Amino acid sequence: MKSFSNSLVDWYLQNKRELPWRDISDPYSIWISEIILQQTRVNQGLNYYIRFIEKFPTVEILAKATEDEVLKYWQGLGYYSRARNIHKAANQIVNDFNGVFPTKHADVLKLAGIGVYTSAAICSFAYNQPYAVVDGNVYRVLSRLFALETPIDSNDGVKMYSKLAQELLNTSLPAIHNQAIMEFGALQCVPASPNCSICPLVGVCKAYQLNMISQLPVKSQKVKVKDRFFNYFYVEFGENTFLKKRDANDIWRKLYEFPLIESDKLFNMSELVEIDAFKNLFKGIDIVKIKSESIAFKHILTHRRVNAKFFNIEISNKNENFDKLTQVAKNELDKYAVSRLIEMYLEKA
Ligand code: SF4
Repeated sequence: MKSFSNSLVDWYLQNKRELPWRDISDPYSIWISEIILQQTRVNQGLNYYIRFIEKFPTVEILAKATEDEVLKYWQGLGYYSRARNIHKAANQIVNDFNGVFPTKHADVLKLAGIGVYTSAAICSFAYNQPYAVVDGNVYRVLSRLFALETPIDSNDGVKMYSKLAQELLNTSLPAIHNQAIMEFGALQCVPASPNCSICPLVGVCKAYQLNMISQLPVKSQKVKVKDRFFNYFYVEFGENTFLKKRDANDIWRKLYEFPLIESDKLFNMSELVEIDAFKNLFKGIDIVKIKSESIAFKHILTHRRVNAKFFNIEISNKNENFDKLTQVAKNELDKYAVSRLIEMYLEKA
């Protein structure tokens, strides 16, 4: 279906955004940009990409950095497993591929955090290999062009769309074809109310003919959002405070946070002092002053809604719980990678 690809590519050449990861063939930069853009809008991702590449310009430098440093440069972007995997994959490239980004698709797929989409993007953009990309934009474009009602998040849907995208790929121009279809989805065939009157594919678009645009693409599963309740303690001990690294297999893994009591609701200070978790955490500690109790913060993640309050407490001695935490100078808190939620609190505090 060459004419389809040609129409897309013509549209792309006239409408594409100028972005630093476009028209380059360096697999390292393409990889970093693709991982950043997986869950992040281009506008937000752009600055992160520039800062990240400035700080870690090569795979060797990235591999030598500590995981904490990489997480610090990711702070605010969310989905922190992406940063942990980038660091892991950089070490794989150094150890298993002599520091040279692999060129074989099967080898690229072995790298941490790189799945079917990212491997196709890297291999096509960097090496012009004929692997079709299928991301959210591509699902939307294809579902509308062909009026496909198979849910994109079903096993059948994933197989069908990936087969169709591969059949449509212009194998003599895979890099530009892939970028064109993604950009077309991002700018022209947008989720709500696309301007079909100026679309170069309107003549072949089945969803347009059948008036089905707003119903496509179909998704079968609704994301269930669970509420969680975090009571955080910004504890002042002289010029210091305390942080803990989140280590469980949970949100914000490997980021730092204040001592925390998770509960099934948010508490006021007067309620908190009565619960066992608080009494155990502060056992034997002289609380000099409760300096403040924050407003309730609400932070939305894909599957979680974190409701949080921050209690600013001044203490004059420590117990063994606090001995196990990382004691940090208050004016050096910004050296630690923390969640956006804690960053927001510190901005207001
Ligand atoms: S006609 Fe409208 S719905 Fe169809 S591909 Fe173009 S922008 Fe998308």
